[in-house]
Amino acid sequence: MNVLVINCGSSSLRFQLIDPRSRRLLQKGIVERIGAVSSVATVGMEDKPVRHGVQAADHREALQWVLENIQRNAADSVEIQAVGHRVVHGGERFHDSVLIDEEVIDAIREAFDLAPLHNPANLEGILAAVRLLPEIPHVAVFDTAFHMTIPRTAYLYALPPRLYRRYRVRRYGFHGTSHYFVSRRLFDISELSRENSRVITCHLGNGASMAAVLNGRSIDTSMGLTPLPGLVMGTRCGDVDPSIIFYLIEKEEMSLNEVHSLLNRYSGLLGLSGFAADMRLLLEEAEKGDRRCQEAIEVFCYQARGFLGRYFAVLNGCDAIVFTAGIGENSPEIRRRVCSGLENLGVRLDPERNQEAAGKEMKISADDSRVQVWAIPTNEELVIAIDAQKIAETAKQTPWV
Ligand code: ADP
Repeated sequence: MNVLVINCGSSSLRFQLIDPRSRRLLQKGIVERIGAVSSVATVGMEDKPVRHGVQAADHREALQWVLENIQRNAADSVEIQAVGHRVVHGGERFHDSVLIDEEVIDAIREAFDLAPLHNPANLEGILAAVRLLPEIPHVAVFDTAFHMTIPRTAYLYALPPRLYRRYRVRRYGFHGTSHYFVSRRLFDISELSRENSRVITCHLGNGASMAAVLNGRSIDTSMGLTPLPGLVMGTRCGDVDPSIIFYLIEKEEMSLNEVHSLLNRYSGLLGLSGFAADMRLLLEEAEKGDRRCQEAIEVFCYQARGFLGRYFAVLNGCDAIVFTAGIGENSPEIRRRVCSGLENLGVRLDPERNQEAAGKEMKISADDSRVQVWAIPTNEELVIAIDAQKIAETAKQTPWV
């Protein structure tokens, strides 16, 4: 079976063609600058990407190009049997992946207010794909779904409860597909069993979040109503005192839009360093002695360590910590710094294993470490493909024909 996995941003469309049964990635790529005078598509695996100039006025034209390109690149004609769509916000309604029908589309639209940067783009992708491939099942996989097991005490904010009743203002959490994947993978490759396990998953990429996973279920996570709070991110501020917003409006005479943009696009590692959001570049400059880059990295690691401590408390101890995503998978230096000073909590890295684990699935803790520490590459697309396959197989017919 071939599943096309689609992840749409406001001007981008990422895709992977996966056979979920063999877990094989067949093709992948991204179309960027959708809606601009000329768009750019990059297709193929990391070692030999090929770039194309593309005319894509909207997501539908981008997807049309992708579908034609998939056929061009395959030896035989490719039959796509299902499409899996990444959807960022499922509100409180979706605890699992679902077959997309009109009702699901309405619910994704209802969550626009909760994720104004993401859900509209995700829906664009769904509508384009349903129009181009109406005869096959389309499945939505939500970033929030894995966190729907978080108990009420952990998801309620200390605000008047009518705000939750009326507007569903609460902690949701994101990167759920990634936290789910790496926690399940840990049970596959370690001797830990899901029952009786206390795991902290650290998704450290451009966006960053952590989750406390008890017996395989998420019971707390660092993001909230939106993906803005929690850890320091590439351009997002993570946790800040909400009063800062009022202070900025008053002192700098900023509009709400400007504050929104400051916190989402010009803060985090970029804001602190005044140089870059990209951890690789920051590590390089820090090494050369740039003080602001050094400080940005220190704040990033300090915040992450603080959340580890918090989840040790939430879980009443910890059996394993898992690092994943761009930084978590690839940076021994950041993992070392995040875990440093946690010896009294039973965390001891093995420096050589840590160094060796760059983009590899590996245990990186010392043999005498009470807490196991792992680096596990995430694979959100595979989860989406597997869910789409399962749901497509049970769907009698698609709602679109
Ligand atoms: P996204 O949230 O966009 O999916 P990724 O998970 O791809 O982000 O993570 C991107 C981040 O990972 C960037 O900050 C990048 O610098 C960082 N990164 C990738 N490789 C390395 C590396 N070898 N060392 C340090 N950071 C890395």
